[in-house]
Amino acid sequence: MKHLVDKLIECRHLLPDEYKQLLVTTDPYLRQKANEVRKQVFGNKIFARGLIEFTNYCKNDCYYCGLRFSNKNCNRYRLSVDEILESCAEGYALGYRTFVLQGGEDPHYNSDEPLLQLVKSIRVQFPDCAITLSIGERSYDSYKALYNAGADRFLLRHETANDEHYAKLHPKAMTLANRKQCLYDLKEIGFQVGCGMMIGSPHQTLDHIVEDLNFIKELDPEMVGCGPFLPHSDTPFGKESAGNKEITLNVLAILRLMKPNLNLPATTALGTLEDDGREQGIMCGANVVMPNISPTEGRKKYQLYDGKIGTTDNATDSGIKMAERMKKIGCEIAVNRGDYING
Ligand code: SAH
Ligand code: SF4
Repeated sequence: MKHLVDKLIECRHLLPDEYKQLLVTTDPYLRQKANEVRKQVFGNKIFARGLIEFTNYCKNDCYYCGLRFSNKNCNRYRLSVDEILESCAEGYALGYRTFVLQGGEDPHYNSDEPLLQLVKSIRVQFPDCAITLSIGERSYDSYKALYNAGADRFLLRHETANDEHYAKLHPKAMTLANRKQCLYDLKEIGFQVGCGMMIGSPHQTLDHIVEDLNFIKELDPEMVGCGPFLPHSDTPFGKESAGNKEITLNVLAILRLMKPNLNLPATTALGTLEDDGREQGIMCGANVVMPNISPTEGRKKYQLYDGKIGTTDNATDSGIKMAERMKKIGCEIAVNRGDYING
């Protein structure tokens, strides 16, 4: 396996069959090399993103997600602008210089105006912080207006780069073509862009993951969000099994070697699959964590999947726990925006 890892380091790309071998390898060399490259690029610093789950209303019906429109058991909420700014202030005090506003595709934000006001308020109050949006598909003009209002980055996972697989995860109204178009629009506008996929989503094969890697190569994003699929009992996939941890870790390692400077989170889903999942992710090349700074109150209601961690904590609890976890593996949270390092 060593020769394939060395080839990936040199060429930053592999043939499909070679990727497939690496996806399932148990040779520790892959992860060791990915961890080395992470340290070469970022030292012992881990970038933190304060995550604010600001609305769980969603008009979409993705089959995997607990926030889907058809889930009548989901107790809906939407944070006020003041609550969001308060969360930012708590995150700022904890040293976070990036705020991620994540939510369902909430019809309240169909028109741009309330979102623009929100972004502008954060921009004015926290001028030294990056603003990341993770709010789904919108028009080019809407993305552009959000960028002009002060948003810096956008996370929109492509979920799978295979059309047929995409159609098995989403209702007809949603298409991979549109998802990809959104990602290219965001790039063109100038956002730092993150795509990504779940590992082990229903009907996913290793070939699909290879297609994901090829799509990532083509899009050339600044970030990739990649965690295991976890079932949510109130969705059509409630009885499916969770994604495989080993493959998830190998994907993280492959991504680090494909794109050494990539901002690559050790996801909450990985930490939900296993208690030290995020630490394992970092040891396999991830360099970002996303501590939750949402008010405790709403956390239980923002259930993309069952068993989400940290739902009884407040921002400070989450922050202290995260800092301790990082210390245990010889890392520390960087107090900076953690922008993509060009070059
Ligand atoms: N509505 C926005 C942002 C919120 S969902 C959007 O869809 O982009 C953010 C991410 O959570 C999704 O992209 C998906 O990859 C992930 N997610 C949703 N349900 C999940 C599940 N059951 N297991 C693991 N990840 C899930
Ligand atoms: Fe809505 Fe995002 Fe969940 Fe799909 S994944 S149902 S768009 S919150």
